[in-house]
Amino acid sequence: MIYLDNAATTAVLPEVFEKMKPFFMEDFANPASLYAPARRARAAMEESRRIIAGSLSAAPEEIYFTSGGSESDNWVLQAVSSRAAAEDRKHIIVSAIEHPAILAGCRALAQSGFEISYLPVTEDGVVSPEALKKSIRPDTCLVSVMTANNESGAIQPVKELCRIAHESGALFHTDAVQAYGHIPIDVKDWDVDFLSASGHKFHGPKGVGFLYIRTGLTVGPLIHGGSQERNRRAGTSNVPGIVGMGEAAKIAMRDMAQTSAKEIKLRDYLIRRVEEEIPFARLTGTRQNRLPGNVHFCFRFVESETILILLDQRGICASGGSACATGAQEVSHVLTAMHVDPEYAHGALRLTLSGQTTKEEIDTTVGALKEIIAKLRSMSPAYHAWKEHRETDN
Ligand SMILES: *Cc1c(COP(=O)(O)O)cnc(C)c1O
Repeated sequence: MIYLDNAATTAVLPEVFEKMKPFFMEDFANPASLYAPARRARAAMEESRRIIAGSLSAAPEEIYFTSGGSESDNWVLQAVSSRAAAEDRKHIIVSAIEHPAILAGCRALAQSGFEISYLPVTEDGVVSPEALKKSIRPDTCLVSVMTANNESGAIQPVKELCRIAHESGALFHTDAVQAYGHIPIDVKDWDVDFLSASGHKFHGPKGVGFLYIRTGLTVGPLIHGGSQERNRRAGTSNVPGIVGMGEAAKIAMRDMAQTSAKEIKLRDYLIRRVEEEIPFARLTGTRQNRLPGNVHFCFRFVESETILILLDQRGICASGGSACATGAQEVSHVLTAMHVDPEYAHGALRLTLSGQTTKEEIDTTVGALKEIIAKLRSMSPAYHAWKEHRETDN
C-alpha cells in the first residue's frame, strides 16, 4: 500500500502506541480518582498538557482536551455565540474555505439569528487581510480563519487577520488542525483567542484533540456534567488518547525541521514530475505558500472519482480533496472559492505526504497516474472533441 492521504488521517507512530498501552489495562483508573494508578493516569495526562502547551507557547491551563478538531471548532462557535447573543453582537466572519466543522456550525447559528459573512480567497487560496477589513463591523463577535487549508494546503496570514479582528473588538479563532505538528505555531505571537487541533492529523490517535483558550476569556462548557477540564468539558478523560496525542506532539516538535525539509523536497519533486509529464495538469495554489506535505492538482478531461478508483486498484490511497466530500461528484467549496476553472476542478487530486513517504512511492504514484490519466482521456468524448477541434483549427 502507498498511503498518500495524510491530510485525512495519519498512522499512529509505534512510539506513540507504546506510550498509550499501559493506560488501557494497567493504569486504566479514572484519573479523577484518588488511588495510585489514578494519580499515574492524571500525571501522564498533565504531562501531555504541558508538552502541548509548550509546543504553542501557551500555558498548560490554556489547553483543554476534546474529542478532536470538530468538537473544538463547535465549542468555539457555541461559546462565542452564547456570550455574543447577550451583548447583541450577532455577526460572525469566517473564510469561505473553512472545514465543514465551522461552516455547518455557522449555518446552524444563522438559523438562530446570527449573520455570517464569508471571506473570499485569492486564486492561490489565501484570505486577504483587505477582505477582512472590508467585512468587519462593530457588531462582529468572532472571526474564524483556519491556519492552513485541508485541500489546497494554503497557509493563511493568521497573525495579521487576528490583529484586524482585535482592532475591532472581535475574538479570533483559528482551526489549526492541518497545521499543528507540521509548521511552527505560536499563540502568543499570533495573539489568537482560540486554536483547534486534532491528534490523528499528526500521528496521534483518532478521537482526541484540544482547544487552546486564552486565559481570561469566560467560556462556558459545550458538554455539561462533571468537573473535568476545569469544569469546561465534562466526561471521563480519554487518558490513552491524551497520552498518545502528547507523545505525538513531542515527536512532531522534535522532528519538525527535519520532517518538513524531507516532505518539501519530495513534494516539489512530485509537483515537478506531474507538471512535466502529465499534460493539462494545474497545480492548485502556489509552491511557496503551502503545507510541507500537500500536493493538489486539477486535471482536465478526467473525473476525480475515477482516478481515485483506479489508483486504489493499484494500492495507492489518495483523495479528491477532502475526506468529507468523497462520494459527492461535486466541486468542493474550496476549489469553487478559488475560482478554479470547472473543466479542471472536476479532476481534483490531493496527494498528502508524511515523514515516512519515500521517493520510490512517489515514482510509483507518478507512473500510475500517467497511465491512468492517459487511459481515461483516451476514453473521454470531451478530450476527443477538443483534439478534433484543434486539428481543424490548424
Ligand atoms: C480533519 C479536520 C477537522 C476535523 O478534525 P476531527 O478530529 O477529525 O474532528 C477540522 N478541521 C480541519 C481543517 C481538518 O483538516
